[in-house]
Parts: sequence; structure tokens; C-alpha cells
Amino acid sequence: MEENRREKTHMDYAYELDLVVKPDSQVPVIGREFGHYSGAGIPLFSLGGGIYRSLLNYILVKFHTLRGYYPVETPILASSSLFRLSGHLEFYKKNMFLLDIEGHEYAIKPMNCPYHILLFLHELARYRSRVSLPFKTFEVGRVHRYEPSGSLYGLLRVRAFTQDDAHIITPSSMALQSILSVFTEMKDLYENLYHMHVNSETVRLRLSFSEHALIGEEFMGDKDEWIEAEETLVKAAEEIKKAQGIEYTIEEGEAAFYGPKIDVVMTIEEAGVSKEWQIGTIQFDFNLPRRFRLYELVNEIYGIEGLFIIHRALQGSLERFLGVFLEYSKGRLPFVLSPLQIAVIPIKTGEEVDEAIAQVSRSITEGLIASGYRAAEVEAHKTGLSGTVRRLEYTLKPPVQVYIGAKEVARGYLSLRIFDYHARSHRNVKVGLSTPEEGVKGVLEEISVLEDGVRRLVGEVPKLPADMSFLT
Ligand code: ZN
Repeated sequence: MEENRREKTHMDYAYELDLVVKPDSQVPVIGREFGHYSGAGIPLFSLGGGIYRSLLNYILVKFHTLRGYYPVETPILASSSLFRLSGHLEFYKKNMFLLDIEGHEYAIKPMNCPYHILLFLHELARYRSRVSLPFKTFEVGRVHRYEPSGSLYGLLRVRAFTQDDAHIITPSSMALQSILSVFTEMKDLYENLYHMHVNSETVRLRLSFSEHALIGEEFMGDKDEWIEAEETLVKAAEEIKKAQGIEYTIEEGEAAFYGPKIDVVMTIEEAGVSKEWQIGTIQFDFNLPRRFRLYELVNEIYGIEGLFIIHRALQGSLERFLGVFLEYSKGRLPFVLSPLQIAVIPIKTGEEVDEAIAQVSRSITEGLIASGYRAAEVEAHKTGLSGTVRRLEYTLKPPVQVYIGAKEVARGYLSLRIFDYHARSHRNVKVGLSTPEEGVKGVLEEISVLEDGVRRLVGEVPKLPADMSFLT
């Protein structure tokens, strides 16, 4: 292991964990001239990344469904008339990919919103007031946006990415409650899935408002709705401050032209330097309800006057989030999302006991896989054990390591090394091994604490057992 190593970037961690294919990887047979074979700024997740993304999708969909959102799935491609209606062709065209199909113009969606509004309109047309408000849709939505090639970087700045995207269509009287719920969702997700604290020490709220004199010019809509929306955001920020001590700032004139917003900003330490990381956003939109004529329709069906559309994302771009998170956590993915969760390490000695060690190791690994975990054996020799552990810790970082040596077999226990996400360090424990079944049961009991957070979030521990032994 080289001593004078440079600081790792998120792409180093992502590559070591087998989450992504490096953009400059050489594809055998096809050759180097195809360097960017998926295209610049289009991340390609590798097999570990497939596990990570599939589990994350499942957790996010269930999390939102439990909290009153309808999960939706909308197409990547749309007739460009949808984006003409939404205004994107007018205001966002330079970031959109457009193509011609049989003489008709199509757009690759840069945002999911217009489709979500279409779904609302569709359900309203069919079910009228039986559709209850606030109406909330959630999508793990893949979007594509043009970025100049010079600005592309790893997973942080890309052209193809995925949002944990939701839209809330709410009567204005219920907007405050909706915003407070989103903040609670954000806190729950960060604390329980990512082991990141969301409190007065770590985050602040940044409110971006209009400049009142410019409403009707730079800021679309009318003064009353801006003022009502901004007051609602201040009320929400005040309540969050009262309950949790989290401070907020107001930046006048910084709103998007279509509405004010709250960003949740986390301060993180990186190599002794404080950096700001925007972790979630709640954004009002006065443009879409006008363009899709929601005010008239909602008024007709529900008899409601004031209506808001709110866009919100808890992680934003999942690719960018992963990149920042890998650097923040130094490559420590949550247990439930780790490509390799458990490394079982038989420690050979070169003596007769080795066969017994191998047998125990095999049955423990098989037992863990049968219980739904991604476990694999990593052989080590007694004299080279510390090197094996260092290599694992440097690259794959399995949150749980199970050691089986001559001592363990003779005395009937397993030695566990478990990453403690709260202490940010490892703890060592022993579990009984009178039979392999008892050993597996002991390991499962010890790792159960690593799953408490996800259990709180979605009421279960999602599992995707897969043979990841090729990684070791
Ligand atoms: Zn949106």
C-alpha cells in the first residue's frame, strides 16, 4: 500500500466499491478509441452500482408511498409539445436534447414535472373530487440536460441523472403543513438511511425570495401569490427553528422567475475545510399551474381558490448525491446499500485445522447468503492477515467482517469486526459457534442494529442477495 497517497476523489471510491465504470475505462475487444463508450457525462453503473441503485430505488419508492405519495413512472421521451406547453421550450431550450422523429419534434425530458401534472389532470378527469388534495407524486426520475463538455466531472456534473423527484399540488391553506412534512421526510431519510445528522449544528435553511418591485417583470405571477408563498416559507422556517433551533437566512432577489424556494444546506468538513452542500430543495412554481390551467380546474372541481405546486427533492440528483456522499463518508456506504455487505475471512495456518476452518467459513457464508445478504469469502493466511484486512478496508469496505481462525474453531466462537456508523469506527465482538446455525444467528443479531434505520423508514429491511464474490 503506498504511503504517500493523494486524497481520494468520489470516483476512486465509486470505482473501488464497483459502483461505476470509469469513463476512461478501456473496453476489451472494442478498444480504447471508444473511450467514452456511454458518452461524456453519462454515468454507467457497474454491478455493485446496480445493487446499490436497485435497493435505493426500492427504499425511496416505499418510503414515499408510506408518506402519502403516489409512485409514478414517466417516459424519458416526450413530444416536444408537452414542453412547449410547460414553457421549457421557451425558457430552457438550450439545456434540452431535441430530436426529429418522422417529422415531429421530440424532447428527452430535462424535468419530470410536466408529466406529473399530466397525471394529475388525467386522474382529475376520471375521478374528479375523489382525488384528494394535496396530490403528491413521487418518481425516481431519469432526466437528461445538456451541460458543456468542459464542465462535466465524475458523478458531480453530468448530462444524465436521476432525481428523487416529487410534486405536491396543494390548496394554499395546506401548503405550510406540506412544507413541514417535506422537512421531516428529509431529516428522516438522512438520519436513518445515511447516518447523517440534520440539526442546528449541521444544517441551515436558505430561503430565496423575489424582489417585490420586480414582480410582474423578472418574477412572473402576481404580488399576492408571491407574498403568500414567501410568508408560508417564513412560517415553515420559523417553526423548524422553534422546534429544532435550525437557523434560516432570506436572500431577496435570488428566487427563480417562477417562484420562491427553501434549500436545506449542510456544512461538511473536508480535509479541515468547511464546505456547503445543498441537500434538499422545496420550490414553489407559479408557472406550471397557469400553463396547465390548474387554477380554473381545481376551482371548478373542489371549489378551492388558492393553489400551489411545489417541486421537491430530498437528495436532488442521485448521482451527484452519491459523489458528494462518498467523499463525505470516505466510501462508507450504508450497510443495506453496500455491494458487499459481509466478508467472511477464513484464516489459514498451513496446518491440519485448515480443513475445519474452511468448512465453517463455507457454511457461515452460505447461511448468510440464504438469509438474504451479500456475503463472500475472502481467504487470508495468518501471516498476511493484516494485509488482507487493509486491502479490504482500502477498497470494498464491507461493513461486517467475520474472522474464522484456529482459535475460533477450537474455542467455538466467531470474531466479528463491525463498522459502527455512529462512532465512525469499528467495534469487535464475538458470537457463539457451537453449530454453524448458531454462528449465522449470532452474526444476524449483531448486524440487526445496522438495519434499524431502514426498518424505521420503510418498515422492513429490503434485501437483494447476489453473488458478489467476484469483487473480493
Ligand atoms: Zn418539478
